[in-house]
Amino acid sequence: MSDANPKESTAFDLVVIGAGPGGYIAAIRAAQLGLKTACVEKASALGGTCVRIGCIPSKALLEATERYEETKNGLKRFGIKTSGVEIDLQTLMKHKDTTVKALTQGVAGLFKKHGIARFEGHGKILGPGLVEVTVESAGEGSQAPEPQRIETKNILIATGSVPSFLPGIEPDWDKIGSSTEALVYPEVPKHLVVIGAGVIGLELGSVWARLGAKVTVLEYMDRILPGMDLETANLAQKSLKKQGLDFQLGVRVKAARLEGDGCLVEAEGKDPITCDRVLVAVGRKPYTENLGLETVGITPDKRGRIEVDAHYRTSAPGIYAIGDVIPGPMLAHKAEDEGVAAVEFIATGYGHVNYDAIPGVVYTHPEIAAVGKTEEELKEAGIAYKVGKFPFLANGRAKALLQTEGQVKVLADAKTDRVLGVHIVGPRAGDLIAEAVLAIEFGASSEDIARTSHAHPTLAEVMKEAALSVDGRPLNI
Ligand code: FAD
Ligand code: NAD
Repeated sequence: MSDANPKESTAFDLVVIGAGPGGYIAAIRAAQLGLKTACVEKASALGGTCVRIGCIPSKALLEATERYEETKNGLKRFGIKTSGVEIDLQTLMKHKDTTVKALTQGVAGLFKKHGIARFEGHGKILGPGLVEVTVESAGEGSQAPEPQRIETKNILIATGSVPSFLPGIEPDWDKIGSSTEALVYPEVPKHLVVIGAGVIGLELGSVWARLGAKVTVLEYMDRILPGMDLETANLAQKSLKKQGLDFQLGVRVKAARLEGDGCLVEAEGKDPITCDRVLVAVGRKPYTENLGLETVGITPDKRGRIEVDAHYRTSAPGIYAIGDVIPGPMLAHKAEDEGVAAVEFIATGYGHVNYDAIPGVVYTHPEIAAVGKTEEELKEAGIAYKVGKFPFLANGRAKALLQTEGQVKVLADAKTDRVLGVHIVGPRAGDLIAEAVLAIEFGASSEDIARTSHAHPTLAEVMKEAALSVDGRPLNI
């Protein structure tokens, strides 16, 4: 099914397969650049994992449950008395669903505004410049419409990713499932076991812990958030532990299955754990099922990712790929930036993403945010660096907010003072990191941040003080 007249849809400049943040943003940028653009999406709503079952619904639940937790337990510290605070899970879920709906409809509106032809159905590459769109039948008795064929000069693969599972885990897509199921639990689990202390485990573990579930997080590594700065991750772990998340580290999960009314989780060297729900959050894998890659000679790598060059060109001429389906961090803004760069390259011959300046944010409380290199990476690369740290405890605004946990850590090159990495755990870290991203993008030094005027009293002053600390001259400690 399509918003475009099939007769008119025979020759496009670009067909994007997948309308996640990578694909839909690429389609909009392509249309802005004057390319006749179509986008094929198999889901009935646009926006991809991010808008439908990822970033947006998880943040709606995180925001709402943070308010609940604060109202129930935090406000009394301000002298605000509350009583009878209760959660209405149905309304909470409605808030999430309304947010998602508004945004998916927003993307559909943007497609109309930019004249992007929308094809609803599964896209399959039949050969260079040819994509077939198949729509499943609506059910017994109804006949599926004939597949449509779209001719195009270029194809952009933006098919994203799906959750990974471990051998031995038997999902029933209800009690044992992925983040998708954990966004719609019909009641608060008494005991939720989360497998994996990565981003999803911490975010959705926090949601259900705030709502009253006992949450046990089983992590294979001896630390949480592998890949993030270790000191920052350890600080975050302490905070999350205080909120009731029970971390069991160095635990390799072997199996999880339904047993009786609940679930049973088995891990090496541990007694089996019984619980009523299991969230498997051990990573995601690229999605290229039935995409027809073999018809154009593209072979994904061992991890299922499509390899591309610096201009997002695959090994097949005229076929590009971006987002979760290619190597790199699986982040919505990374997919968006790549989508823009890829179509700018198609239209103009130029297009670039600075991978040193892609932030990562974990939307727990406090938030965790990072950009650039970690201390561990700098040590491993043998790069001499200086460190400046400043705690939120010494910041006036954080004190007024009663949110004094955490710190900003700035890593700068020992010789040139150029900012190499910034790691934050603390209130609104996800917003504060933007300044550090810009600093890295512009090749700023820690002295540049230190000499920049920061409004008082703001949380951003912690960034300035951490930058001053690189040179051993913080002012408020
Ligand atoms: P996707 O968003 O996965 O979109 C791919 C689209 O392609 C899908 O809509 C799919 O239906 C469609 N598709 C696939 N194959 C075909 C086909 N053959 N034909 C037609 N259509 C097809 N990232 C962040 O940056 N911030 C966050 O806060 C964040 N939170 C997250 C929370 C959760 C619970 C999850 C699961 C992920 C989160 N992410 C977050 C990651 C983010 O969602 C992904 O990195 C991002 O969606 C990747 O974008 P994409 O466009 O590459 O792919
Ligand atoms: P992840 O890679 O962040 O974490 C997976 C965790 O599972 C790791 O800590 C890993 O060591 C652990 N693990 C692997 N095998 C295990 C085993 N057998 N037993 C116990 N632990 C095991 O993956 P995720 O949390 O599933 O998230 C998937 C992707 O979605 C990530 O790439 C992330 O970038 C993206 N995402 C981003 C955000 C955000 O930006 N705020 C939010 C959610 C998801």
